[in-house]
Parts: sequence; C-alpha cells; structure tokens
Amino acid sequence: MGRNRLFGNAQRLIKKYRVTDGRSFRLRRVDPGDTGGLTAEAKPSAQAALRNGIDALIRLQDMLYAQDRWALLALFQAMDAAGKDSAIKHVMSGINPAGCQVASFKTPSPEELDHDYLWRCQRELPQRGRIGIFNRSYYEEVLVVRVHPEFLATEKIPPHLVEGDIWDRRYEDIRAFERHLSRNGTIIRKFFLHVSRGEQKRRFLKRLDDPAKQWKFSTADIAERALWKSYMEAYEEMIRATASERAPWYVVPADNKWFTRIIVAAVMVDALGSLELSYPKLTKAQAAELAKTRQMLVDSR
Ligand code: ATP
Ligand code: MG
Repeated sequence: MGRNRLFGNAQRLIKKYRVTDGRSFRLRRVDPGDTGGLTAEAKPSAQAALRNGIDALIRLQDMLYAQDRWALLALFQAMDAAGKDSAIKHVMSGINPAGCQVASFKTPSPEELDHDYLWRCQRELPQRGRIGIFNRSYYEEVLVVRVHPEFLATEKIPPHLVEGDIWDRRYEDIRAFERHLSRNGTIIRKFFLHVSRGEQKRRFLKRLDDPAKQWKFSTADIAERALWKSYMEAYEEMIRATASERAPWYVVPADNKWFTRIIVAAVMVDALGSLELSYPKLTKAQAAELAKTRQMLVDSR
C-alpha cells in the first residue's frame, strides 16, 4: 500500500477516538466494545492492515533515528487487564530496539518520593531520534493518587502545598510540562485503553485459570476494581483537563484486543507520518567526499 494511502486510512480510522479539546468530552459516550464498524469477519483484513501499519512504522522509525531531530513519546494509561502490555508488545514488534525504549511506572520508590513526581518520568524521556513508551506515567498522579488520597500523604509535600485544589494544579503543571516537551521537539500521544468492567472480570477469571497467566494476577487488582466508579470519574476529568492539540488523548475501545492494537498502530503511524521525516540529505561537499572514498575503496586491493 502506498504511503499516502496508508496515512489517509490511519487518519480516518483514529479520528473518532481522538480528544484534543476536552471541554465536551464524556467518557460514557465511548463504548469499550466499539470496533469502528468492523465486524469479526473483517478481522483478517484488519490484521493485514495492522501488519502494513507495523511495516510502515518500522520504516518511519528508521528515518526518525537517522534524522535525529524529533522524539516520540507514547504513553499508556488503563485499568488492569485492559491490554496495555499486549498493545505495546504488538505495535513495537519488529521495531529496531536501538531506537525504542519502554519505561513502566509502579508505586514510587523511597528515592522517587524524595523528588517531585515528574522527576522519575523525566529521566525516562526518549532522546531525539527515538520512540519512548511509558507504561503508566505521571498521569498516575491524578488517577491512583486521586482515588487513594492516602498516597498523597506519602509524597512528603509540605502540607500547605497540598491544600485547596491540588488536582487542578497538577493538571496545569502537566499541561505546561507537555507544552515544554512539544516546543522542544518531542511529540506526544496519550492512550487511554478503555475496557469495560464486564470484560475486565472475564480477563481476570482467565488469568486465574491459566497457569501461564496466574503470575499476572494480584489480589490488589480486585480492590482497585471495586473503586471502578471513582477511577472512571478520575479518567474523565483527567482527559477533559489535559487533552490538547499538541498532546491529544486517544480513548481507545479495549474490549476487543485486535481492534485496540489496530488503533494504537494507526495513531503511531499518523504521529510519525505527520512529521514528514526524511533521511538526512548530503551537502555537495559531503557527496563529493563520499564519491572520493568510494573510488578509493574500488581501487584498493
Ligand atoms: P500488569 O498489567 O502486569 O498488572 P501494571 O502496570 O498494572 O501491570 P503493577 O505492578 O501491577 O503493574 O501495578 C503498578 C501499580 O503501581 C498500579 O496499581 C499503579 O496504579 C501503581 N502506581 C503507579 N504510579 C503510582 C504513583 N505515582 N503512586 C501510587 N501508585 C502508583
Ligand atoms: Mg497490575
């Protein structure tokens, strides 16, 4: 498939899920079971499209790396078992590991708690020429920490700085941080993989019954599940407050893993495609130098 057609297709597919202005966003309007009008019969051709998308991604990443100007940060947030890990694994398959890095953010360590919450994320930001994947991110600070205010108390922030609307201030700081990154050449794409409560239950039961997946199960996941409503409110407010043109949220239906992967791949293709990447062009002098070197090589023994 030609490059332009591929980008065109990617753009059409993802538009419905993109949020760049959160003011009118409502989470309940997004159906986790949505497959963008594609039926299960369309799955094989959708998977072929995914392979095309991944091929395109591999070529684009090679140029990103050679050009060494832009970085791409793709971050993933979701409830447990929404498929973050598998979406990341599929979409990044085949990509040159030298140009890609994945960072996972868990409960902060004592060292991390001795710094502001952006610190640990800043240390993992992708260099120019690279793709950085955040499996969870600084957004946990307005999600899990909001749902569990007792976590805030462990962050050692001077008490009077926690008073009033700390969440609004965090949104503001996150927007400013993302603006700073985008002004300096990091493009940002944010994914919320939106799974339904029923599908999460099915996946948890599958994990519990499958010896190859039992290790993934944690009793704590059930406690978070019980707080579903609070989490959904926190997600909605976060998206409303932090979606922007420069750092859009993609709210991706996640009850069907094959569909989730297609959307994630399409967003990545669209993001890199929007950069009009190319291999660095040689100057006349560099080209002459290369021609000379080539001749020396031909003439050598
Ligand atoms: P898996 O899909 O394998 O379960 P995971 O991303 O859920 O992967 P876990 O080790 O199970 O990884 O969970 C990480 C936990 O750390 C999550 O419950 C998350 O909410 C929590 N966490 C992440 N960042 C913070 C933070 N800043 N403060 C408190 N908890 C956090
Ligand atoms: Mg987990």
